[in-house]
Amino acid sequence: MYRRVLLKLSGEVLSGEGNKGFNDDAVKYLASEIKKVSQHGMNIGMVVGAGNIFRGKELKGVTNSIADHIGMLGTVSNALYLKDYFEKIGIKSVVVSQIVKLPSVRSIHYDDIELYFNSGYVVIFAGGTSNPLFTTDTAAALRAVEMKAEVLIKATKVDGIFDKDPKKFTDAVKYDTITYDEAISKNLKVMDTEAFAICQKYKMPISVINFFDKDNLLNAVMDKKIGTRVIP
Ligand code: UDP
Repeated sequence: MYRRVLLKLSGEVLSGEGNKGFNDDAVKYLASEIKKVSQHGMNIGMVVGAGNIFRGKELKGVTNSIADHIGMLGTVSNALYLKDYFEKIGIKSVVVSQIVKLPSVRSIHYDDIELYFNSGYVVIFAGGTSNPLFTTDTAAALRAVEMKAEVLIKATKVDGIFDKDPKKFTDAVKYDTITYDEAISKNLKVMDTEAFAICQKYKMPISVINFFDKDNLLNAVMDKKIGTRVIP
């Protein structure tokens, strides 16, 4: 069982695939999966995206960096929404970010993050990398390395990494393991090249799982053989 994990969730986990905003059932499912894991006492860091609110590239006619700032603010909205929901069902959590100064958001400070983990808080990293032109996949890779996670768990809606899109091709083949080099050279869309490159450089294993199979998150933190593992 891992002692410290970083979970990357895309914003659509909060809205339901292809939807915007928040969906009660979707958030309830997410919270119940997190609760199961948090009860085992491991340190959980989370990076949440903002695809359910804004993705920079979807904002046509807006200057790239400004559109990305709008996207990053969306990740703060999601993090606060989750924190509030978690609190109501008894999951202790804290939102940390460098991009906003709000009474509900703490700044990122390594010593404090250790204290939050030691006190059993889920740490929700909001605001991506704090820079435009990146995505929350890259933020997840950075935060995983910074917080010394043992694995980056990438939550997806399919069973792992496939040689082609399994939603479009019935003959798509799933990898049980794949190297960072292969993932980058085959241009597999599961994460950005930047995110793969950071994980490769710092030897951060990535576990790609189907988040929508009940208990999969728990199985991933128990290091059961599910999904696809990206390794050196
Ligand atoms: N974003 C950014 N810098 C970052 C992370 C995110 O500018 O380091 C912006 C970018 O516009 C991105 C949006 O925030 O499209 C939401 O993040 P992402 O697309 O990764 O969300 P997801 O698809 O995972 O829900």
